[in-house]
Amino acid sequence: MTRIIITGSKGRMGQALVSCAKNFRKLEIAGQVDKGDDLAAVIASGDVVVDFSAHSVTPEVAALCARHHKALVIGTTGHTDTDKFEVTKVVAKIPVVWASNFSTGVNTLFWLTRKAAEILGPDFDLEIVEMHHRLKKDAPSGTAKSLAEILAGVRKLHLNEAAWHGRAGIAGERKQSEIGIHSVRGGDVVGDHTVIFANTGERVELTHKASSRDTFANGALRAALWVVKQKPGLYTMQDVLGLK
Ligand code: NAD
Repeated sequence: MTRIIITGSKGRMGQALVSCAKNFRKLEIAGQVDKGDDLAAVIASGDVVVDFSAHSVTPEVAALCARHHKALVIGTTGHTDTDKFEVTKVVAKIPVVWASNFSTGVNTLFWLTRKAAEILGPDFDLEIVEMHHRLKKDAPSGTAKSLAEILAGVRKLHLNEAAWHGRAGIAGERKQSEIGIHSVRGGDVVGDHTVIFANTGERVELTHKASSRDTFANGALRAALWVVKQKPGLYTMQDVLGLK
């Protein structure tokens, strides 16, 4: 049995994890931690912590996991550079799966996006459109950022310079080096992402639509089962799925 501790257990994703874990024969929930609870008090009873709390909480969760030699699955998004720096300090000590999106479909979208960018080449304009529910706090979504990183990697662009968030006013003609990123918010949308490759005379659109949080929860639980068997280091969902 792999014993998991969920941080952010009362949240939308935390509740999906608690419910989906019942379908995993080899997983047992050893602890549920939310705001006001003390992770340090229960961490010894788990093999792996699955964190879906908030970006600002993840560095302390990671530090505690490293101190207790527990594996970690990071699901939070919206990390600042400081958050990221703090988290990467622990990967020499423990195995960590860090993914902006745990769905198998989205990880297939990542793979397809890389392939399409390689095949279509620099003449195609690149735009990403994402939509999420009205309560989502960070924008653009972590998944949209991952898609943009993939596109920038293939085109050999610096994402900070290439990323173009929305357009307003006299924005001017589009530059070939732009990667447009657009965040739409409303209703109860679980997560939609479209990557547009547009050229004169034709357009390719790759779209993924999540209709249930269970898809992320099941992926994160699969990652938890996988990560406890790994050496210390930083892994992605592509590693878990063998998509690399
Ligand atoms: P949510 O606001 O519904 O839940 C977050 C929970 O964390 C809340 O219950 C909150 O009380 C709790 N929390 C806050 N501070 C805490 C602390 N110090 N210790 C423990 N718990 C604490 O949010 P959500 O929609 O469940 O999303 C949670 C995170 O997961 C967000 O960063 C979101 O972007 C991300 N997310 C990632 C994926 C993915 O596949 N990687 C999918 C969906 C959401």
